[in-house]
Amino acid sequence: MTGTAAALPSRARRQEIRARLFQDASERYAAGADPRQDGYTDLEDWFETQVAEFRRLKMPVPERPGWMRTDDWTLEGLVALADQLGRKLEPDDVTPGLRRFATAWLRSKPSPIDFEYLAEMKARLVGGDKLTIPQAKGVLNCAVAEARRTPRKATPATPAAPAVELDAGIYFKDGTVYKVVRAVYGSRKMYAKRLVPVEGARGRFEYAPGAVRELTPADRMTIEQGREYGALYGMCANCGAVLTAEDSIEAGMGPICRAKFA
Ligand SMILES: [Zn+2]
Repeated sequence: MTGTAAALPSRARRQEIRARLFQDASERYAAGADPRQDGYTDLEDWFETQVAEFRRLKMPVPERPGWMRTDDWTLEGLVALADQLGRKLEPDDVTPGLRRFATAWLRSKPSPIDFEYLAEMKARLVGGDKLTIPQAKGVLNCAVAEARRTPRKATPATPAAPAVELDAGIYFKDGTVYKVVRAVYGSRKMYAKRLVPVEGARGRFEYAPGAVRELTPADRMTIEQGREYGALYGMCANCGAVLTAEDSIEAGMGPICRAKFA
């Protein structure tokens, strides 16, 4: 290899290679491979290096893979997440917090377990093995299915907090946009999703555990707040779409959302 400039692959080709390397590494680390063997200090170091490389190649910054996010989960939150996704969980959905939850949920399950898959997974835990990401995914989907089958226990006669249920809609608190929706399955309770800006792409609504209890009717987003937010992020506060046309940026929302919002 002589390494002359002319021998370098085109930028498009380098972008394609970079995206594939990122995806491959993400899958290997999700399955438990050690980033130190690839010369990284830890997973954060790997991810930051990727972001820098994507920037250098003028590619949209990659999203942090779900399995890298840290978070804490309850069964109720998990069911709300599954409702939000509208499908079974995939390995990419399994965050460290969800993996911990899968382990804890399985450990707390009384033996004997009549479902063979879960019995086998629990035997692994008891034997000192950790759940891999794909195994955790399987356990989480079982937990969701079981929760949906099991009727909710009657709520205690004296709830800890007055049950003021929010209306569905867009809320704005501490600079963050929340979308409050009703769970389609399971609890059928209201829950909140947080709008997460994504550089150069449509913003993502991400389940925000517990946020629905922090919001009040007074936090309903006003059209002025929506306009400011849209101008600041170049993103529609109602649906997360990238605002491009000048009139949309001025209005802080796309024409369709603006009409719905007004
Ligand atoms: Zn919109």
